[in-house]
Amino acid sequence: MVPAYHIRATLLPDGDQQRDFWIHDRRITFEPVDGAEDLAPIGGFVLPGLVDCHVHLTLDFAESGLPAGSAELVEANLRGHLTTGTFVVRDMGAVSDATQRLSDECRPRVHYAGRLLAPPNRYFGIQRNTPSDELVDVATREAKSGAHWVKIIADFDESGDLLQGTPNYPHEILAAAVKAAQSAGARVAAHAVSAAGIQAALNAGVDSVEHGTGISERQLEQMAARQTAWTPTLVIAPGAAAMSSEMGGKRAADAVLAGFENARQMLPVAARLGVDILAGTDMYPPGSVWREVAALKASGLEPALALAAASTTARAFLGEPALEESALADLVLYERDPRNDPEFLKRPSLVMFRGDRVAV
Ligand SMILES: [Zn+2]
Repeated sequence: MVPAYHIRATLLPDGDQQRDFWIHDRRITFEPVDGAEDLAPIGGFVLPGLVDCHVHLTLDFAESGLPAGSAELVEANLRGHLTTGTFVVRDMGAVSDATQRLSDECRPRVHYAGRLLAPPNRYFGIQRNTPSDELVDVATREAKSGAHWVKIIADFDESGDLLQGTPNYPHEILAAAVKAAQSAGARVAAHAVSAAGIQAALNAGVDSVEHGTGISERQLEQMAARQTAWTPTLVIAPGAAAMSSEMGGKRAADAVLAGFENARQMLPVAARLGVDILAGTDMYPPGSVWREVAALKASGLEPALALAAASTTARAFLGEPALEESALADLVLYERDPRNDPEFLKRPSLVMFRGDRVAV
């Protein structure tokens, strides 16, 4: 028999007073449970776990030295997320099939896309080479194999100038691939950075736009109407600029930084229009999602909305439960309010995944 616990804390991201709840048989209840023991000091702040909506579990951004694409690397990355209170991750494209072998019981929970799909020479050499005439078939196959997402690189530019990236696929082929993947039960995420690439992805009906640095108000209106989410990955701006500088010199790097500046300016517009904004860290090590929350807040999002991008908004978008009656006890507690400073997210005082305490 698992012991029962009691917690009194402010429910994040938008609570303004402390609430009592209990954990009984690994599940949350707002009905008092007799004899429950206090799990944490009264008066902290609680989240149903963080969500990182743009990770690559098969790549080694933590510099562990483990081989790219290996099952060991995926395990190490998952551990890094779990111990920092990140309970759900969305893998936005793998370089091997290691993520496809993860079970549904995996800790943390993984919503994965299969391989990164792009034409030959159109994405750093880590893509599954997918010429136009194969895109529909490959996307269908990935969706049917059980991938929750299909990730398509919608635009790219070899000279490193992200704003000038050109679409990777003819419009009608991209649209047919998106439709085929969705009919087979997957959702579709598009890497799209240029205005033309974003427009092609939106016209094709994708479910989320990744990066979207060149996004416009008109495109955000379209996204709000169709409930297309946006993962701006603001935190990667310096890293992306460094890569662009290597590919195309200062001019390319400056263009990338200008793109991220555009994204920052569009964020409050997206919030006003009601577009789902998701926090994703892409090329940062596991446990970095607090950085994206900080970047979103610094760009003018309400602190609660910036935090929701890495918690409740992301959970709702992915179909994961919030901190609610009879949900499995996914909890991360903090002594201080991360809405005041997202860096507090780095130091959880208690991490509990599905009713089990995780060492932090
Ligand atoms: Zn990525």
